[in-house]
Amino acid sequence: MKRVYVNEEWCLGCHLCEYNCSFANSGEKDMAKTFLMGRQSVPRITVEEGDGICFAVSCRHCDEPLCVKSCITGALSKKDGVICVDQSRCVGCFTCVLTCPFGAVVANEGKPISKCELCVSRGGEPACVSGCPNRAIEYKEG
Ligand code: SF4
Ligand code: SF4
Repeated sequence: MKRVYVNEEWCLGCHLCEYNCSFANSGEKDMAKTFLMGRQSVPRITVEEGDGICFAVSCRHCDEPLCVKSCITGALSKKDGVICVDQSRCVGCFTCVLTCPFGAVVANEGKPISKCELCVSRGGEPACVSGCPNRAIEYKEG
């Protein structure tokens, strides 16, 4: 299946992937207005920086996903290889936040958690990939 892959050698540390993810998951139509009015979503991708390198971290859609195994309500599941959240079943215990080895599940006001679902509901390339100005994030088979 296709996954998001990151090349830290090309990452500029601009954080545009976080902004594009926030906007794509906000359900809004205008990016500037979305951020000006505070309607953005919590980003499902995070740029880590240190020791002169930076790279974006998001869900790996693991073959053996610890988040799915540990979820106490079955709110997390694999659909066609994509690890998805059923918000209606999530009780906000944050076990998945603690067990994900990549820190890819984020607490989200009102949801209560969010994670990358590869923009499957939008279709096409994930927003973080299409918005990266230096092609440091790729969407490819692997
Ligand atoms: S949230 Fe974490 S454990 Fe779950 S599939 Fe993604 S990277 Fe793997
Ligand atoms: S926070 Fe929600 S999705 Fe995560 S383990 Fe708890 S019930 Fe499952």
